[in-house]
Amino acid sequence: MIRGIKVKKLYDGIHMEPLEDVTVLFDETGFTDIIMSDKTGITGGDQINIEDKSDLYMMPGLVDCHVHLMLPGDGTKGEYIMRDWSQGEVAVMAYRNAMTALAAGVTTLRDCGGAYNCAVTVKNTFERQSVNGPDILSSGAPLTCTGGHCWYMGGEADGPEEIRKKIRSQQKAGAGFVKLMAAYGGTIGVTKTPTFSDEELQAAIDEAHLRGMKITMHSVIYEVTKKLADLDVDMIEHTVMCDAHSTINFLDEEVIEKIREKGIFVDHTLNCVNGTVNMYEEKVKNGTAGSWEKEQYEIYKRYQDLTFESFNFQVERHVPYVVGTDAGWGFSNFKDGYYENIYEMQRNGASAKELIIASTNRAAKAIGLDNILGSVETGKQADFLLLKDDPGVDMAKAIRKPYEIYKRGQIFRS
Ligand SMILES: [Zn+2]
Repeated sequence: MIRGIKVKKLYDGIHMEPLEDVTVLFDETGFTDIIMSDKTGITGGDQINIEDKSDLYMMPGLVDCHVHLMLPGDGTKGEYIMRDWSQGEVAVMAYRNAMTALAAGVTTLRDCGGAYNCAVTVKNTFERQSVNGPDILSSGAPLTCTGGHCWYMGGEADGPEEIRKKIRSQQKAGAGFVKLMAAYGGTIGVTKTPTFSDEELQAAIDEAHLRGMKITMHSVIYEVTKKLADLDVDMIEHTVMCDAHSTINFLDEEVIEKIREKGIFVDHTLNCVNGTVNMYEEKVKNGTAGSWEKEQYEIYKRYQDLTFESFNFQVERHVPYVVGTDAGWGFSNFKDGYYENIYEMQRNGASAKELIIASTNRAAKAIGLDNILGSVETGKQADFLLLKDDPGVDMAKAIRKPYEIYKRGQIFRS
């Protein structure tokens, strides 16, 4: 049955400026019409129940381009999850995280790497048991070299042939895109070097595209970000511009211009080290930090400052940025991660109105789902939020506690 909601302002995810005093019609199959208040004669008028919510703001459901459903986001490292948890416990964690994200207004999740194919397991559970959960797109295990970043998730592959085979077998198991670790990261004992040769990177890109999949690559170092900007990648995760010691930011105009020109989507997971910085900072302040912890605090703090600075530099040069939170990783969690990320992006130069687009329609485009979701448009899936505050003024404040969340036209109740 078609329902209608009349709102104060509608941010449709495509246009910067909102439509005022509009009525949005939808059912479980999608949005059916958007009617301006000065127009009369809604088709089938009498049968449509129109709720007057003209004190509220509407925007599309949030899209998170970078999460790890298998991880708890409480600071526990992935290595310990793999050592201590059963496959079943990991799947349950992934299910719980997906529903926690939905309760925070995140209606679509792209899982950028997990073990045991857990994101596909959750997606299949939603479908088989008719659970109205968030849409999930999974990479399976992230591709990495032997002993490389996140090797323990099961995505090790060396040489073009192994890389191609891994991509094929993961697609067979339900992966919808390819995530590749092009640099080191926060994995215990990993060497601080790029992960793959040029030949291996090219093989991964060719194989992903041959099989109709997008490929996104992780980069936490300038040397790698620079290299990826020259390749035919679809997206760069983190898009960091500093050196391995977090001492120098290479704010390279040429690299950013290439990214902008080629339309390579980028995300910056700006909140993902905040929890780690705060943890060490507290120890330093209350005098319980040892010398190693003091050093870690300095390194993470510098990294945080440099990533904020680099984000601002990129935003000012109009790169196509989207929102990725790295939820699950470190202390970025599924309840607060999205809000924290928007808060940091807004504080570091992104406008609230552009953030609405970057977190919805543009993010859907980045992950290849914009044909079905990401905007409030006739025919799209009816995923949307009703908010008490105007997201075009302060998006972080507006999404902190969504008033109501709708997934596929149905209200979400936790
Ligand atoms: Zn990640």
